Amino acid sequence: MKKLIIANWKMNPATSPDAKRLCGKVIGEIKNIKNVDVVFAPPFVFLPLLKGFKIGAQDVFYEKSGAYTGEISISQLRAFNVTHVIVGHSERRAMGEADEIVHKKLEAVLGAGMKAVLCIGEPERKKEEVFPPIVRKELHSAISKIKKPLLKKLIIAYEPIWAVGTGNADDPKAIFEMAILIKRDLQKILGSKIADKIPVLYGGSVKASNAKVFLRDAGIDGLLVGGASLDAKQFVKIVKDASEL
Ligand code: PEP
Repeated sequence: MKKLIIANWKMNPATSPDAKRLCGKVIGEIKNIKNVDVVFAPPFVFLPLLKGFKIGAQDVFYEKSGAYTGEISISQLRAFNVTHVIVGHSERRAMGEADEIVHKKLEAVLGAGMKAVLCIGEPERKKEEVFPPIVRKELHSAISKIKKPLLKKLIIAYEPIWAVGTGNADDPKAIFEMAILIKRDLQKILGSKIADKIPVLYGGSVKASNAKVFLRDAGIDGLLVGGASLDAKQFVKIVKDASEL
């Protein structure tokens, strides 16, 4: 499986000229790099800047249309060639997005035939919790009752909350164990035929200096990169590293 690198720009850059500058620096450098899949998830207003690349959205609403001020629908995203949608990012969960909403969004994205990047992760690492119950609960509640064939388009991003945006990344061994536990649960629920095709990514303070180790030693299929995806040099290095594995 080719490694998958997803850039989550969050609510950045601040202005359109800044976003254009970032695109200019990154796109020229990575457009000829092979053997890696790169998806950009910018704020909605910058989606048109990424034309020609795989484009992701950072969120979506599950209804098709109507009186939902501030929300965006799947068909509206599709009009901008969005193929991937991040669902249940910890920063959205922290703003009140409950498991039930995450489930509805996931079902809507997969039901529309798009790829969904489901984020799951524990708020703190407790020694006694090998597979933190919250990670398992987030996984199970999100995918429950979704028709199995739809889950072929699922991507899991394991993002321990304590590592997201803190500069305090998890270590490859712990990620390796967590990736196995997640994959094992997916196999139990979905069977190997579907589960083995679901990529498991890691996210949480990935930088140019640690990406290669994660990609090589942590048993994962790619990375969800936040802060470092806004730094052209770092992001290009991460993509190059992923292409060389
Ligand atoms: C993220 O936004 O999903 C993320 C992992 O952020 P960061 O890389 O900045 O920790």
